Amino acid sequence: MYFAFHKFLNSKPKTKNSKLVAALLDWFAANARDLPWRRTRDPYAIWVSEIMLQQTQVKTVIPFWNRWLRELPTIEAVAKAPSAKIHKLWEGLGYYTRVRNLQKAAQVIVAECRRRGDESQIKNKSETPHVVSYNFPEHFDEVLALPGIGRYTAGAICSIAFNQPTPILDGNVIRVLTRVFGIVENPREKEANLKLWKLAEELVCRAKAFRCGKPPGESAREDARTTKNQNCSHLNQSLMELGALVCTPRQPQCPVCPVRKLCVAFHDNRIGELPNLDKRTTATARHFMAFVVEQQGRLLVRQRPGGVVNAHLWEFPNAESNGTAAKDVFKSIFGIAPPVLQPLCTVKHSITRYRITLEALLVQFGGRRSTTSKILRARGTRPSESSGVWLTPAAMRRLAFSSAHKKLASAAADCILSGR
Ligand code: SF4
Repeated sequence: MYFAFHKFLNSKPKTKNSKLVAALLDWFAANARDLPWRRTRDPYAIWVSEIMLQQTQVKTVIPFWNRWLRELPTIEAVAKAPSAKIHKLWEGLGYYTRVRNLQKAAQVIVAECRRRGDESQIKNKSETPHVVSYNFPEHFDEVLALPGIGRYTAGAICSIAFNQPTPILDGNVIRVLTRVFGIVENPREKEANLKLWKLAEELVCRAKAFRCGKPPGESAREDARTTKNQNCSHLNQSLMELGALVCTPRQPQCPVCPVRKLCVAFHDNRIGELPNLDKRTTATARHFMAFVVEQQGRLLVRQRPGGVVNAHLWEFPNAESNGTAAKDVFKSIFGIAPPVLQPLCTVKHSITRYRITLEALLVQFGGRRSTTSKILRARGTRPSESSGVWLTPAAMRRLAFSSAHKKLASAAADCILSGR
């Protein structure tokens, strides 16, 4: 009966959506990239990859994901890990709220499993090199309720790990769908956004009803052997993959696109107009000064408080300068006039809509550090900021710094080693 129903579905005259799903599944089968998280069905590993991939490129994420899974192989390990460890493992990925929410969600899962008495459900037979201990929830609503998981991430986890027909819609998928269906409204506006979610849902539901999809390429053979039907997973991943590799924002590869015959934007020559996103607000330039204070081979660093950007990460004392002279910025932080200030390096980076220039100045003190510590209150610009600690470059390497301050730490270490 089941087979007959699917035979009937597959024998119906093909609509645009059926053709699209078939083309995407075939293309993904032949072109899926060999990514480490595509070799597993472990929802924990897939969840970690999805959180890391938010705002971060695939090639950057791969070594972070491998290291994370090696160091914290189970949900329980994340739930119990010290805050310093999870921050250090995330160091360089940015957007640190993601890692704190990841840990909060792991703690919720462990607590919920314990409350239900699910600890006995520990899976001993893992398809992956790491052991699954506490069960990741399988219901979409339960996944969505976890800290740091929105509709896109819940849809991605449920479809990829459990092959559920849960839609996904991110920047890549929006680009593909607005072009293929010729949607001219702004996809950030409510009505157009709802329409896109509906379309994404129709496609993944149609994929679910397909008799089968071909297994993806070489790397995912294991996946194809252990699970007969991964169409929902592969359909969603094909949309993401097409947006990442072929239907790119600028200069999409239409001549090799598997869905070009179905693509409205291609036929109407309107690719450059879609998606119709409003112009981003222009970036605001901000200038900060950081002081790398050194004495007897140790550097003064402090930990950022909770509830601010880059919370709990370590940094060199710094403040926004707004055109103020370096010696006055130093005095506003430390309460004393500085000795000689030497330029160390300048780091440029962006956080959300801010283009930040961080100018680092080296300040070297002679004499006894205990005396210097008393003078340098390093009180920061907020009352909650720590007064700072003196560390060697080796000790600093064990702490998590933001990317910009890590570059400063590296420049400072070189400076100390060269005896400048
Ligand atoms: Fe994108 Fe071009 Fe393919 Fe249309 S034909 S989906 S615009 S790559």
